[in-house]
Amino acid sequence: MQVKILGSGTGLPVLGKGQAAILAEIYGRNFLFDCGEGTTYKLLHLGCEADFLDFVVISHMHPDHSSGLPMLIQMLYLQKRRKTLKIYLPERVDEFRRMLHNFYIFEDKLGFTLELISIEEVTVDFPGIRIFPNSHLEGYSRIIKENGFKNMMKSFSFVIEDGTSKVVYTSDIPDLKHLCNYVNNADVFIVDAIHLPVEELKCALSKSHKRIILNHGLSDEIKEYLENNKISGVEIAQESEDLL
Ligand SMILES: [Zn+2]
Ligand SMILES: [Zn+2]
Repeated sequence: MQVKILGSGTGLPVLGKGQAAILAEIYGRNFLFDCGEGTTYKLLHLGCEADFLDFVVISHMHPDHSSGLPMLIQMLYLQKRRKTLKIYLPERVDEFRRMLHNFYIFEDKLGFTLELISIEEVTVDFPGIRIFPNSHLEGYSRIIKENGFKNMMKSFSFVIEDGTSKVVYTSDIPDLKHLCNYVNNADVFIVDAIHLPVEELKCALSKSHKRIILNHGLSDEIKEYLENNKISGVEIAQESEDLL
């Protein structure tokens, strides 16, 4: 397996950082986990051609994780992609298709097959990629209920194993409860360091990971903890670095 972070920034754009995107080669296929704004530029920077990507998997629909999708699809159309692209979405696949139509992106015009499917299918297609629902979006429940919105508040973390390596990508998480039985001994543990309370991070640090990558920015609390304590084996995410 090969893994690199293309975007390690948060929902607040800052110069010099990309928004959420992780590129992974698994079983010889190229996966993109999350596709924040500007992911197209990151792929171009790496010299990826139109048929390079095989699958895109979106952890949740916050724009820093998903807003790069329409531009990715448009770029692949203009680059004359021919290979099928499967995009696994966390919720409301048909709504997403309608949103693409709002952008004047129509499947029949693309020149390649675009399959939009539910994220649950990714574990059917690839048993080595396991998805774990987390509670990152549950704070929206009141506004969704009161307004009758259709949002399903689905958000996922990932454990990826290919027989030789184990990679955990938490995406955005308020805690590690949903992952607690699965976060031991990862070769690479890519953990959200902006939403996660420091106590939860300390727990993650004790789980014998080979590399712990603090991703998606750093909260003030975690920054202070790192400044005041000598912690070994913890790295701040560097974009485009090979992690395995
Ligand atoms: Zn985020
Ligand atoms: Zn989020």
